Amino acid sequence: MNSLKSISINISIPLFISLALGSLVFYEQKIPKVLFSIVPYLFYAITVAILWVSWHFNRNRFIFIILPLLLIYVGFIYLGGKRATDLFLYVSMLYPLHLLLFLSLKERGLFSIWGVLKIAFFVVEIAVVLYFVFYPNNDIIALLKTKIFTTSFYPIEDITVVIAAFVITVMAMLLIFNRSVLYNSSFLIILLTFYIGFYFIRTPHVKELLLLSIGIIIFILLIRESYRLAFYDELTALPGRRALIEDMAKLGMKYSFAMIDIDHFKKFNDTYGHDTGDEVLKMVASKLAEVGGGGKAYRYGGEEFVVLFPSRELDESYKSTDILREIISKSPFVVRNKQSSKTIYINISSGVVQKTSQDKDPFAVMKRADNALYKAKKAGRNQVVKA
Ligand code: GH3
Ligand code: MG
Ligand code: MG
Repeated sequence: MNSLKSISINISIPLFISLALGSLVFYEQKIPKVLFSIVPYLFYAITVAILWVSWHFNRNRFIFIILPLLLIYVGFIYLGGKRATDLFLYVSMLYPLHLLLFLSLKERGLFSIWGVLKIAFFVVEIAVVLYFVFYPNNDIIALLKTKIFTTSFYPIEDITVVIAAFVITVMAMLLIFNRSVLYNSSFLIILLTFYIGFYFIRTPHVKELLLLSIGIIIFILLIRESYRLAFYDELTALPGRRALIEDMAKLGMKYSFAMIDIDHFKKFNDTYGHDTGDEVLKMVASKLAEVGGGGKAYRYGGEEFVVLFPSRELDESYKSTDILREIISKSPFVVRNKQSSKTIYINISSGVVQKTSQDKDPFAVMKRADNALYKAKKAGRNQVVKA
């Protein structure tokens, strides 16, 4: 389950974009018309940028999310009348499901089997929608417009409302329980923006602002994703060594630092296998992530971690680190294999230092922490030693 803090931080960015652009509608009178007239061009520009970046970073799902919006917009402009109304009906039901599907599908190369299947699926979707736009079937339209509720959500149909309730619930659950908060928060806001925009579609500029909001949300998501790739460790989701070096360079004169290493991890890997070893790393990382005393945990490499305590004294960070050591040593880890399961306990050792004026750079501090860690190992492991 994701913490409320991480959910709120991640959701605030896309939410702000949507609200900011959405609120422009209320100030229509005060905003020069020319500003509104460039909104579609901004949307086209951001769409091109998204296509380019997604392609280069192999984040193809965004291609399948922004392209339909571009097609829908072009459809609204050029179809007109009854056909545009029908298009609205179909896509208000289809797009959210499409969004959910492409959020759940794994990222694969566009020209892998999976990639080609995705392209084929997308082409079929377009063909089906176009077919029904140009050859409307009144029975199907009547069916899609079935009344379920006593109140009307016009221009949104009742079935669309049911689909919305379903997709929003699934996305909200993903946001709470799935690990990729970054994606799920943005997708949930994209979905809500889509529905609110569609509900007010007849209000001037809503269509364009809706599309631009979604475009910007996706673009920022792409930027944040590349930041995460560069600075965060894939396995444990902790910030990695690069983030540590950057953060240490930003620190003031006073900070302390814990170098942490899992005890006898090689033996553990040899006994239970590398995959189980990975699970242990995740477990240890999740405990380290909750460090108190204002500390921040990083995966330094392999089974070595670092906790940075900005503006903390040695004794304070020693205390926080020793609490971590104790929590981890008392956390049962269950190893399952085909026949049986076994509970084992993992220990960590740590060396803690405080930066002094003699330390020329962060690496000197690290070196001393490493020496203290070595002492902890020599003294029998499962302990924290102050440098
Ligand atoms: P000590 O108590 O002295 O630290 O003993 P140790 O066995 O933990 O020390 P050593 O540094 O020799 O072993 C580290 C092991 O960590 C070696 C390597 O197989 C394992 N390891 C490093 N990175 C990973 C990883 O990402 N996944 C897994 N499963 N194992 C890893
Ligand atoms: Mg080691
Ligand atoms: Mg070790």
